[in-house]
Amino acid sequence: MRGLEALCGNVQVKRRLSSGRGLSHAYLLSGPAGCGKRTLAGLLSQALVCSGAGEVPCGACDHCRKAAAGVHPDILRVGSDGKDITVSQVREVRSDAYIRPNEAGRKVYILENAQTMNGSAQNALLKLLEEGPAYAAFLLLSDNAGAMLPTVRSRCELLTLSPVTPAEAEAWLLRRFPDLPREQILDAARRCEGVLGRAVAWLEGGGQEAEEVRSAGAELARLLLSGPEGALLEYCVGLEKWERDALGELLDETVQQLRVGLSSGWDPRRVMALVDHLRKLRAALPYNVGAGHLAGWLCAGAAAL
Ligand SMILES: [Zn+2]
Repeated sequence: MRGLEALCGNVQVKRRLSSGRGLSHAYLLSGPAGCGKRTLAGLLSQALVCSGAGEVPCGACDHCRKAAAGVHPDILRVGSDGKDITVSQVREVRSDAYIRPNEAGRKVYILENAQTMNGSAQNALLKLLEEGPAYAAFLLLSDNAGAMLPTVRSRCELLTLSPVTPAEAEAWLLRRFPDLPREQILDAARRCEGVLGRAVAWLEGGGQEAEEVRSAGAELARLLLSGPEGALLEYCVGLEKWERDALGELLDETVQQLRVGLSSGWDPRRVMALVDHLRKLRAALPYNVGAGHLAGWLCAGAAAL
């Protein structure tokens, strides 16, 4: 496969895809948010519809151009609205899959947030993976491959994306943002903890959002460590309005701030217990935990430590 340099890091995934074997009809792209699942799904879907000779995607044929512009009629997305994918949506995909492709030789379905499918939705999908028409291809994107049924997982080629190293992030971001000050890019590469999507969001947002998350994280770290409890409770109530992605960033940032605090004399045992608590909450986020619940657990857990 060509064009894989658009994906940062992830050497093993790239090696596997450029080994010259043909493309599968079903992939499970797994890895934390911001690790390149959408970038890779874009490349794979382009490669699947490409009509060029030689290595795909050629990047030049009609199909490649439409795919790159996001207007190819045979590349269909499900679940990109952030809501759970329901069994009736999977059934719609199923009936659509039996209608032959409009233009390309294949029809590609990209299922974002595939971990939000419940058991019946996944079973309906399983049937399609097993018995669907040969031209249909499926790209399942999931923050957590463990949330997928083993039967679904085993029908897919698993591509696990990992956080990138600071050096990989730096090189990639310098290429992507040639006009930004080098210092700002190095700072984003260092602070994103390997989650490139986070660094991209900061740099595209002109650093303002990053500053907001940074100060919110510092505030939360301070409240968790030294209270007062009433103020922490109030802060947590305010979190109920936050979006899931932003909450994830806030939790990551707070962990970072707590670590920084270790060197300024905070009680290490309490800091480590808090870090552990925040990590567990962070891991629960992809499972559609509501912000209200999360804020409650954050507060109750911290009080119990
Ligand atoms: Zn092409």
